[in-house]
Amino acid sequence: MTFSLITARSRRKRQKRGRLARANWLYTQQDVQALYDVCRNTVLNWMKYGLKSIEAERRLFLGSDLNAFHAERKRNAKTPCGRFEIYCTACKSKHSLLVESFKVETKGQFRTRVVLTCPETGKKASSFMRESVLDELRHTLESKSSAETPV
Ligand SMILES: [Zn+2]
Repeated sequence: MTFSLITARSRRKRQKRGRLARANWLYTQQDVQALYDVCRNTVLNWMKYGLKSIEAERRLFLGSDLNAFHAERKRNAKTPCGRFEIYCTACKSKHSLLVESFKVETKGQFRTRVVLTCPETGKKASSFMRESVLDELRHTLESKSSAETPV
């Protein structure tokens, strides 16, 4: 180790979520949790957001897939939110209203707020949304769920 203790410690803190996995290694879910210092739910949530995994007797993650997922997520967090996305200050990433369940709170006549619970931190994230966008969101969700459930 060439860093001083303090540098190494702050580096470690800062890098928790920015860690690089070894590209050609396979990680179990427990390995992934340990690598990024996150809980099981977080890993499952990452999978909902597109983290690839290999379905074996035990679920496995390829290092390069982990790196690609986190690089993409980091890039994504810097771009403005899409219409159906809410930026979460707790986990510093965006949550899609097409993926997470959410609650609609109306305040007054024109202020409609959409609230969701961050699946990674349990904190609330919210955003004001226009009725027209909300309608569109509901519509998209309806057609999505009817496409998934054969009639
Ligand atoms: Zn979050």
